[in-house]
Amino acid sequence: MNEKKRKGLMLVLSSPSGAGKTSICKKILKLDKEISMSISYTTRSKRKSEKDGVDYFFVSKTDFDSLIREKFFIEYANVFENWYGTPKAFVEEKLENGKDVIFDIDWQGAQKLSDFSKNDVVSIFILPPSNKELLKRLKKRAEDSVDIVSSRMSKAKAEISHWIEYDYVLINDNLEICSSKIMNILKAERLKRKRQRFIFDFIDKLLDYFIR
Ligand code: 5GP
Repeated sequence: MNEKKRKGLMLVLSSPSGAGKTSICKKILKLDKEISMSISYTTRSKRKSEKDGVDYFFVSKTDFDSLIREKFFIEYANVFENWYGTPKAFVEEKLENGKDVIFDIDWQGAQKLSDFSKNDVVSIFILPPSNKELLKRLKKRAEDSVDIVSSRMSKAKAEISHWIEYDYVLINDNLEICSSKIMNILKAERLKRKRQRFIFDFIDKLLDYFIR
């Protein structure tokens, strides 16, 4: 009963590309049934392994611009020369119903979500264990061209420079351990006083006894 009266939270994960954030998101979604993924819209071309409507909604730049005009997004940003945006209605509906939403977005998106609703955001920055490992993971993905890999590697520095704006910072040297740390953060954050809406009524009832 109490869980229903809790407001949902926005669990925001950012990292340089290749730090393992997408795998972590998938792991969290498997481990926890109370959280849903925010699926972004993007103008980037679809990778072979990706599915439209599952990994992203892949749209043209013209469609993306129309969605901006319709105020369809909570936030949108240009990342690596492509546009990415977070749909608003899905997130609002989940939060109001006490459900949490996980976001795989960059630092610009994390900042804009905080501007939108600071109290509901829990932000985590994921670091790779080393630059060597970061490069290895980017190459392993093998779906992006050599140019894309080197451009993402050179932009890692800029992304990492935003680590200090996040509530938590984790090093992803092991997917299982890192995901379990995120589960611990999620469980504790859900219990924070500010998220327990029901507690006001509950305390009023307890205090009624003393007034009589
Ligand atoms: P990728 O093309 O590798 O899937 O994602 C590139 C970057 O864009 C990643 O850092 C990812 O977190 C970020 N990203 C994905 N969706 C969104 C979004 O809706 N908004 C913002 N601001 N960044 C996003």
